[in-house]
Amino acid sequence: MLEESEARRRLIEATPLGKITSVPLEAALGATAAVTLRARVALPGFDNSQMDGYAVRSSDAVAGAILHVVGRRFAGEESGGGAVGPGTAVRIFTGAPLPPGADAVVMQEDVEPTGETIRLRVGAEPGEFVRRRGADLCEGQIVLREGDRLTPARLGLLASQGLAEIPVRKAPGAVVVTTGDELVEPGPGVELRHGQIFNSNGTLLEAGLRLFGVTAPGRFHAPDDPARLRTVLEQALQAGDFCLIAGGVSVGEKDHVKRVLADLGATGGFWKVRVKPGKPFFFARAGEKVIFGLPGNPVSSWITFLLFVVSSLQRYAGRAPDPAVPGLVPVRTRLAEALENDGDRPHYVRGRWEGKTGLFRSVGIQQSHALHGLSLANALVRIGSGERLRAGEEVIAYLPEDDRWG
Ligand code: AMP
Ligand code: MG
Repeated sequence: MLEESEARRRLIEATPLGKITSVPLEAALGATAAVTLRARVALPGFDNSQMDGYAVRSSDAVAGAILHVVGRRFAGEESGGGAVGPGTAVRIFTGAPLPPGADAVVMQEDVEPTGETIRLRVGAEPGEFVRRRGADLCEGQIVLREGDRLTPARLGLLASQGLAEIPVRKAPGAVVVTTGDELVEPGPGVELRHGQIFNSNGTLLEAGLRLFGVTAPGRFHAPDDPARLRTVLEQALQAGDFCLIAGGVSVGEKDHVKRVLADLGATGGFWKVRVKPGKPFFFARAGEKVIFGLPGNPVSSWITFLLFVVSSLQRYAGRAPDPAVPGLVPVRTRLAEALENDGDRPHYVRGRWEGKTGLFRSVGIQQSHALHGLSLANALVRIGSGERLRAGEEVIAYLPEDDRWG
């Protein structure tokens, strides 16, 4: 049985990089940059006013000074308002270029206007309320690195550089294949016979793929019949770069997935990882296609999705996931209760992490079929084999959320 980090290392290594394609900035949120870019426009691009007020010479600007207003200058005006000479000021608005001669701005709240002149209530230091050219960003500075996630602020920065498009690594096309004779597709009026269950993994995994950047995952279903499974898997492998198969990868007599995949030429894989839930997790490649066999129990399906498929998606996108840890958001948290793991596999406990208190508490029965309990959880805490954690102890909780905004 493979250790979790070794499993992740192998599947990250076996995942190809997504193709590079240029997309409009509007379509790039959450994608991963495929290039490193340097600034060609400085920020600010010119010395300008930080306030609505008056551009002055700081040497004139002492409290009580009376200055002659010689003109006005608005944002977007290249010139206008004239220069600031001894004893004079130019009315100026936020973002307008600083007029020649001025080296400071007095904000209008600190000025008493009287017709053509103003009286300063306060003095001004050189550079006060002036936004200097290049103070935020100079030409040639790096604005984006290959592998960076495109957040709203980074996209805004690219727009500030005059760009309308950005090369990104394409998210993979992905399909979810559910397997099992007991499964029925949910829908209005659909009734279950005794022994049947509704297919929940299809919806769960499809939503997971969307959450992590796949736009339109495909869906297939196969019964537990090797010949029909083979036909469906052939179609699924045609349709997606990533193929997620739920169920049929364990040791049951009807668990045909691994055998059928081997017949279809899948290689280079592994089966079984020392983790709970999710031991029967399976991985292989068929040509350029990557194949994940997720255990059929919904909690196992979701946890192995988070622990393994997410890292593979990140690799495909050109980010450099660390195989030692899940590709999720780690937060420092304290346990609201004692938790222990007597088993021989590390256990990912499902629970709720509360930002307000910084506490994590397990929820629901911790069994791999317990989908309702899973739906109440928003975080995972890993408890090593044989580990006993006290209430109040500090641990890392993993949140299945991404960092699209920051
Ligand atoms: P398997 O891995 O195929 O042996 O399935 C393990 C358990 O998960 C069984 O109880 C299945 O009924 C259940 N299961 C498998 N696939 C799904 C699915 N798509 N939705 C809900 N439960 C499933
Ligand atoms: Mg099954």
